Amino acid sequence: MITCPSLVYQSFTHIDGELTCDGVSVAAIVTRVGTPVYIYSAHAIRDAYRSIDEAFAACPHAIHYALKANSTLAIVRLLRAIGSRVDANSGGEIEVALRAGCEPRDIVFTGVGKTREELERAVALGVGVINAESAGELDRMAAIAAAQGRDVRAALRVNPDIDAGSHPNISTGLRINKFGVPLQDARAIYRERRSRPGLRLVGVHVHIGSQITTIDPLRKAARALAGLASELRADGVALEHVDVGGGLGIPYEGRPMIGASEYADAVIPELRPLGLPVLLEPGRAIVGRAGALVTRVVDRKRSPEGRQFAVLDAGMAELIRPALYGSYHRIVPVRPRQGPEGPWDIVGPICESSDVFARERVLPPLDVDDLVAVLDAGAYGAVMASNYNRHLLPAEVLVDAGHWSVIRRRQTLDEMLALES
Ligand SMILES: *Cc1c(COP(=O)(O)O)cnc(C)c1O
Repeated sequence: MITCPSLVYQSFTHIDGELTCDGVSVAAIVTRVGTPVYIYSAHAIRDAYRSIDEAFAACPHAIHYALKANSTLAIVRLLRAIGSRVDANSGGEIEVALRAGCEPRDIVFTGVGKTREELERAVALGVGVINAESAGELDRMAAIAAAQGRDVRAALRVNPDIDAGSHPNISTGLRINKFGVPLQDARAIYRERRSRPGLRLVGVHVHIGSQITTIDPLRKAARALAGLASELRADGVALEHVDVGGGLGIPYEGRPMIGASEYADAVIPELRPLGLPVLLEPGRAIVGRAGALVTRVVDRKRSPEGRQFAVLDAGMAELIRPALYGSYHRIVPVRPRQGPEGPWDIVGPICESSDVFARERVLPPLDVDDLVAVLDAGAYGAVMASNYNRHLLPAEVLVDAGHWSVIRRRQTLDEMLALES
């Protein structure tokens, strides 16, 4: 079964010819906050969280929202308020989680290259589990725990050599990738360390990639994980959970897409026989559709071949996904003009040829000063913004129950330069 995108909650819709976010005028927000600005729907975030939670109702589970998708404090607090736990990928994300009110035990700490300082802090805090990326990292964790006179709760991230079918830059579960340890090595790694003092091997972890749009790789990864978990228990490893990672995709192009319930229906039968709680680490699937980047047209021109360009005040410094992964984002004018639609190249102002949001996108007429919204930008958008070309980090706004508030104000020039002498 596939979920029709029109059945998925849509927060950004045109009402009386004007783009709104849950009924709040996008243009009205821009009048106060300026452009570029990220606008998020709290309703859409809660809705996406709950749809995953409900889909897994038949199976003991915990959702650890992957902070790296969007770690603006207000968004983490919002998810925390409805019961979400977190997946942190760095020491910085652990501190964000704590400031958003998470308890250390609610934190899963993942990350391909954890520093000694990050590990020491995580062990001292007593985070819920640290997902190790190598045998060496497990040993370093055990040594740190022993030195601190504590136990560390650990899992090993296994790499099942499964093609997630997503963009090469966001596939992580292939042998050629830097993530985790090969599945066939995992059993020996656990066996050798199962009675190491201070090291409690409580879980197994897999995360094969992001923006996964077919069910098969997710099912295969769950099956591989369940197989390993059974072997480890036979070896006397006292597992307390299995962690299937994140990766569930969203319909950027508006095409039908696997939803939370299809995902759950595919992986629960693989995992339920274990009788262990399942940890989920969705990032994109929770916040991706909830956000839009609203930007202004600053120039338009036509090439000798007849290509029409609309140049925006936001580009890869604000939203790098198209430049980094060639990703597709829906783009809509905030107040669509009457007139014939035509192909537009929607480009940013940054001095890079890859700073292009869309080529030959069919849109209504555009003119200088028009506002356009780049949709489905809630995940891997604002978190990846940079000061490249000395752009100021954009503002972020959260719309909740008919009201909106600035959850991160625009950076100022002085703030950007404050670290420099
Ligand atoms: C990035 C990441 C996630 C979240 O991935 P999404 O595709 O955003 O769901 C989850 N777990 C780990 C270990 C990650 O690195």
